[in-house]
Amino acid sequence: MAARLKEHFREVGNVVEEISKKKVRPKRMAVVDEDSCTGCQVCIPFCPVDCIELVPQDKYNIVMPPVQIRFNECIGCALCEKACRNLTWDAIVMLPTDDFEEIYGIPID
Ligand code: SF4
Ligand code: SF4
Repeated sequence: MAARLKEHFREVGNVVEEISKKKVRPKRMAVVDEDSCTGCQVCIPFCPVDCIELVPQDKYNIVMPPVQIRFNECIGCALCEKACRNLTWDAIVMLPTDDFEEIYGIPID
């Protein structure tokens, strides 16, 4: 099976070691409502920049912890929000970046 798959797909490039900076400031930021998030992780593979991760285990100490966004990497594409809303629990909101900065005090470049 693996050999057949290897034949079918092209080789992938090397994984980059350094993350480059975003080229433009996103208009919106994805924010997870951790009280609503089931921890199903359905949204994770939809993120094109792989910036969704589980919250640290010691934050809630539960079997399926919610996810969080690495805001400095999020490009505001909203794919996670659509995936969560359409496939699971609607636990992600897209906040305008200005509002996000004002609410959380986190500057977004
Ligand atoms: S898809 Fe929604 S409910 Fe599932 S982990 Fe992601 S944010 Fe949480
Ligand atoms: S908005 Fe896009 S880049 Fe940001 S966390 Fe969601 S899927 Fe990833």
